[in-house]
Amino acid sequence: MENLASKYDGILQSGNLTKYILETSVYPREPESLKELRNATASYPMHFMGTHPDAGKLMGILLKLLNAKKTIEIGVFTGYSLLLTALNIPDDGKIIALDPDRKAYEVGLPFIKKAGVEHKIDFTESPALPVLDKLLEDPSNDENFDFAFVDADKHNYWNYHERLIKLIKIGGLIIYDNTLWGGTVAWPEEALLDPRRKKVRQDAIAFNNAIASDTRIEICLASIGDGFTICRRAH
Ligand code: SAM
Ligand code: CA
Repeated sequence: MENLASKYDGILQSGNLTKYILETSVYPREPESLKELRNATASYPMHFMGTHPDAGKLMGILLKLLNAKKTIEIGVFTGYSLLLTALNIPDDGKIIALDPDRKAYEVGLPFIKKAGVEHKIDFTESPALPVLDKLLEDPSNDENFDFAFVDADKHNYWNYHERLIKLIKIGGLIIYDNTLWGGTVAWPEEALLDPRRKKVRQDAIAFNNAIASDTRIEICLASIGDGFTICRRAH
């Protein structure tokens, strides 16, 4: 039953349809710097972790609609979503970018510099939780951010949520990535054999259930990329 090939075909689980969408509307309009970063990532270990470019397009539009200026990114890797965010916020916008892996960030850094947006990025080489806790020690950070993108260790998503909900403004957005985990959230438990993937599936299901009953937010679990849970802070 375990079919890992489908993981790379996006949540549609159709290579042809995913290819059609990417080739028709995403790649032709993808900024050159993002394309170059994506190509440089293609030969890097675990390259498939980069944000799906079609989901990236949606994120770019949401950032613009929101007029997002101050954002938080948890899980940078080589920086596809980070560069995309930097390209979609104003010149005086700021992104707090958190990842314990600086080496991966440095793969994308030349393209971030070439795009002229490095000044918008404040990268901290660290797991995200202690940095979020530090931000929360200063009350001026409460409700001070417009947007957050979470694409890191799945078992911590609820811990991130409890902190981000205080940092994000009312009306602001938090997006959680990979919440459909290759579609496996709807598979029977015994269908997954790999214990690590089984655990992430359980984490995703627990997070999806918890967030669905959080009345502080409006949510849309969008079937794009690998599942994008878009949350708007309602109050
Ligand atoms: N958003 C990235 C992109 O568009 O290329 C992909 C992120 S990748 C799926 C997950 C990243 O989360 C990895 O780079 C990993 O080092 C990072 N990560 C793992 N644990 C973390 C933690 N506790 N805090 C922050 N980042 C973490
Ligand atoms: Ca992801």
